[in-house]
Amino acid sequence: MIKKVNIKVLAQDAENIEKIKKLAFYEANVSENKVTDFQITKKSIDSRRLPIKIDIAISLYIGEKAPSLYNPIVFKKSEKQKVLIVGMGPAGLFAGLKLLENGFTPILIERGEKVEDRRKSVAKMIRENQVNERSNYCYGEGGAGAFSDGKLFTRSKKRGNIYEVLSLFVQMGAPSSILTDSHPHLGTDKLPSIIKNIRNTILDNGGEIYYNTKMSDLIIKNDEIIGLKTENNDSFYGPIILATGHSCKDIYQLLYDKNIPLEAKSIAIGVRVEHKQSFIDQVQYKSKNGRGKYLPPAEYRLVSNVNSRGVFSFCMCPGGFVVPSQTEREHCLVNGMSPSTRGGKWANSAIVTEVRVEDLNDDNNPLAMLNFQHDIEKRTYDLVQSGIAAPAQRLQDFVNKVESKDLPQSSYLGPLVSKDLNLIFPKEIGKCLRGGFISFNNKIPGFVNNDAIVIASETRTSSPVRILRDKDTLMSIKGLFPCGEGAGYAGGIVSSALDGINCALAAIRYIS
Ligand SMILES: Cc1cc2nc3c(=O)[nH]c(=O)nc-3n(C[C@H](O)[C@H](O)[C@H](O)COP(=O)(O)OP(=O)(O)OC[C@H]3O[C@@H](n4cnc5c(N)ncnc54)[C@H](O)[C@@H]3O)c2cc1C
Repeated sequence: MIKKVNIKVLAQDAENIEKIKKLAFYEANVSENKVTDFQITKKSIDSRRLPIKIDIAISLYIGEKAPSLYNPIVFKKSEKQKVLIVGMGPAGLFAGLKLLENGFTPILIERGEKVEDRRKSVAKMIRENQVNERSNYCYGEGGAGAFSDGKLFTRSKKRGNIYEVLSLFVQMGAPSSILTDSHPHLGTDKLPSIIKNIRNTILDNGGEIYYNTKMSDLIIKNDEIIGLKTENNDSFYGPIILATGHSCKDIYQLLYDKNIPLEAKSIAIGVRVEHKQSFIDQVQYKSKNGRGKYLPPAEYRLVSNVNSRGVFSFCMCPGGFVVPSQTEREHCLVNGMSPSTRGGKWANSAIVTEVRVEDLNDDNNPLAMLNFQHDIEKRTYDLVQSGIAAPAQRLQDFVNKVESKDLPQSSYLGPLVSKDLNLIFPKEIGKCLRGGFISFNNKIPGFVNNDAIVIASETRTSSPVRILRDKDTLMSIKGLFPCGEGAGYAGGIVSSALDGINCALAAIRYIS
């Protein structure tokens, strides 16, 4: 028999298993000697009222053993047909693992470097204030998620089994707490070793990986994709899972030129805002003393509606850094990441507003939103015209549309230059962002303050193009499986990984 109970404990008792057990037995009204096993299934913070408590869901097993929280997959040497996977972000990597699990051979083609070399290239890019177009925060093994906060929270439950993705992360070295935390995250320091473990699993079981290898063409025969060509003119043959992420303009252009069906997609754009983490802790935990010794750095999620347009916070990184995430020179865009401890002094988040396809008056052009996105990134760059330097403004000045005389300290990894960021955005977008900040200030008093900074621009929140695919076969044309965030079917690490799994299964069905 299983008895499920929920208990609440103070933050300092959240790891005190003896105390948690006692409370659970009391709550379930069972005596300790009857309980054969005990399992924590979910942990979340209840900060609605003081004192803040940790909500813990527990299963008590009476007369039986608890099943293990996950069952590791046994990968076997792949012997069956080859499937090409372009891109080694979460979508490509999880597609590779799913193929292996089923005995098929994944051949991974990645334009960037191995994650350890990529780390050095990114550090050099920051040191030398120069964009590296091959290896950066978006390109390379691990994809856009390799140096990130590693948030593993997704609302897209209908896309598949989230638990399967989280379990695979644990098998590849992630802490098992991600299986029970309500807002699991990994941190930029933990992700590279997990990615290396995925790489080794693929190689050890007969998969192949080609780094610094950019796909530049498709091989099509009788309306069926039968392979690809690389920029060095090498050819690879097999059906293709195309998981190239949302940053590669060249791939969208290639698909457009090859008449692969595409459509423009709405996106959200804006700025990254940064506050002191201590301020966010104080307001979210309703205490002048902040988070204290036991609570984690606080998060926030904000939504508003201005002029019938949604304005919202996105990809909030407690205790994190703001990073330059362009993939081309003379473009400027930013994103956020955090280490696993989220122990930094700053809290950053994108604040973005919707841009709809109909706003662009270019309905028939599937690349219209991509062009708009790149135009904003170029306008942002034009304000500063220097490598990875980004324009920034005090938040209060942004709302009042005045250039800041000076800038507060920030975690941004490159140089910042004081500019009025309102100059970047179309009027309507600027108005919505300013209106959104004012409304957030009503929800979190002091949110618009003189020490908070906004840095431009946040443009790559999701794909500006959707690569159309059949909803059953997941193929765009025979042999081509557009996959993950770049194809417009995912947004974030977990949903991209799920789409990778789904595309791998679709490719297996196609071959079989
Ligand atoms: C700094 C940062 C922080 C983020 N933080 C989070 C977070 O905390 N949580 C979260 O859920 N999401 C986060 N994201 C978003 C998340 O990383 C993406 O949603 C996810 O990585 C998309 O996965 P994907 O596999 O579809 O594409 P990507 O991860 O973009 O991978 C695409 C891969 O394809 C490769 N590629 C592109 N073109 C070619 C070509 N022609 N030939 C060969 N290879 C090619 C690229 O080099 C890249 O490695 C963050 C993104 C960034 C940039």
